[in-house]
Amino acid sequence: MPSASATRIFAAGERIFTEGDPPDVAYLIESGRVEVWANQGAKRLTLSFLGAGEILGEMAVIDRAPRSACADALTEVVVTEIRADQLRERLDEADPVLRSLLIGLLTRYRRGLRAARVGSSGPEPAADNENQEQQRRIADKIRLERELLEAIERDELRIAFQPIFDLLEQRIVGFEALVRWDHPTRGAVSPAEFIALAEETSLIVPVGHYALRKSCQLLAKLDGTLPTHIRPWVAVNISARQSVVPDFADLLARTAEEFGLEPRRLKAEITESLALDYDRVMELIRRCRHHGIGVALDDFGTGHSGLGHLHRLDFDSIKLDRAFVTPLPADTKAVALVRGIATMLNGLCAEVIAEGVETLEQAQTLHRLGVRFIQGWLVGRPQEPSLILEQLLTPPRVELV
Ligand code: C2E
Ligand code: CA
Ligand code: CA
Repeated sequence: MPSASATRIFAAGERIFTEGDPPDVAYLIESGRVEVWANQGAKRLTLSFLGAGEILGEMAVIDRAPRSACADALTEVVVTEIRADQLRERLDEADPVLRSLLIGLLTRYRRGLRAARVGSSGPEPAADNENQEQQRRIADKIRLERELLEAIERDELRIAFQPIFDLLEQRIVGFEALVRWDHPTRGAVSPAEFIALAEETSLIVPVGHYALRKSCQLLAKLDGTLPTHIRPWVAVNISARQSVVPDFADLLARTAEEFGLEPRRLKAEITESLALDYDRVMELIRRCRHHGIGVALDDFGTGHSGLGHLHRLDFDSIKLDRAFVTPLPADTKAVALVRGIATMLNGLCAEVIAEGVETLEQAQTLHRLGVRFIQGWLVGRPQEPSLILEQLLTPPRVELV
């Protein structure tokens, strides 16, 4: 357990740190005055005077470089030490674009300082490769982020529906709505790439909102072409940032109703990492249930959800991650694992949906192990909802042995 921040006192004239020192700690100045300075040939170049409430020595800690200046106490100085890991922890949690901008800024500052010290006004030395690569990645992200925002505004995102199949009744019972982005120059951008980017910022909220509205609109349109006894549901992916939107469950219900759908035709998929926040998820489930909206736990088995808490969260369905399905049926350990998981989840009265089912053998094995619902290329790839009609009317047969 690292020790708590310590207070230190420097006497007037005492050195706090020297150029070249390792960046082990930063300081919050509680009282007194500090001069930060560097050598400029034979001269002393004052960089700043700092006082109470200001932070000293954080730059080297942030970019893990040796100190590029010296700091002296001008009066008696009282400081609180800020450990490197305290600062770095916050930095690691920060938005990656902001973090890289900060590092870029520090690099530029140091280059400027170096130039000022040698009195050079010549060209700056080229940034090292790693730095350049990082800058390029940030620029790409910023560009992609702007383009994604424009794509939402211009209605350029699409929704694909992937069928979810009931092995027992041999019919398609619902769909998962998966967002697609056909970029004008980059081509199809994988959701794995742009959803992760959108989740880093609050862009996921408009993207999720778009997916929700579009899914409801498409489902309502599909209803118009189907006989009344076929009424599939649609599951939308909900990211952590969306779930904190106040009254999110009400928003789901309102959106469904706006398109003439009963709210129970919607399901919300949330990921395992979000489910770690039990109180929030419990409240979300409670409010969704009030409207008849089911909540599914997505990617089960990939995160770190404590099994001990699963019984407290009343999920309607649990989606077994593809990682468990792919090794079936050859891998006997995977078979044993899926059997155990299915037994446990059936005991909780949650529907089990296996993801990423690509072969008939996998479907048959899953059925044998107690899994009733499957999703995957075997039954259908994510596709244009208008192309799905045929599949709904004459569902594929998945022969069970
Ligand atoms: P997910 O929720 O786990 O979605 C299932 C992913 O598995 C989809 O990838 C789907 O195309 C893919 N998949 C389905 N069946 C098979 C199969 O048999 N074999 C293989 N190899 N893959 C299969 P996709 O469409 O690339 O989406 C990736 C992720 O992006 C989704 O993972 C989901 O987390 C996220 N995502 C997609 N749309 C949205 C959205 O509207 N909102 C949010 N928050 N996330 C979304
Ligand atoms: Ca999902
Ligand atoms: Ca999933």
